[in-house]
Amino acid sequence: MDNLASRILNLVARLSGQETPALASATPDQAGTEAAYRQALQRWFELTAQGPTGDGEDVAQLYQDLLRLVDDVGEPRASTLRREWARAWWQETGVCPFCGERGVYHDPEQSGEGTA
Ligand SMILES: [Zn+2]
Repeated sequence: MDNLASRILNLVARLSGQETPALASATPDQAGTEAAYRQALQRWFELTAQGPTGDGEDVAQLYQDLLRLVDDVGEPRASTLRREWARAWWQETGVCPFCGERGVYHDPEQSGEGTA
């Protein structure tokens, strides 16, 4: 019954450049950004699993990419996705995504460990 009111609200939000949460979660741009974020994060987990043998410059570049992608995806969604994908990575590989140790999963949210 508040159909008109919600439409006006949407319009106002669009005009002021602030999307409503419903709109923000469904844009193709957002989906592409999240796919790129996931890819970079997977790469990061792989490097973590390999230990300190990786190329240092490579790691620094990837880290910069990740910082940018976290900005693009936006918090708190970036953290929610990271938790989800970190756990999926662990289930798939059995390697801790945060320190590369095999057979343990250090959940930073649970143990109070800092994030990498
Ligand atoms: Zn760990």
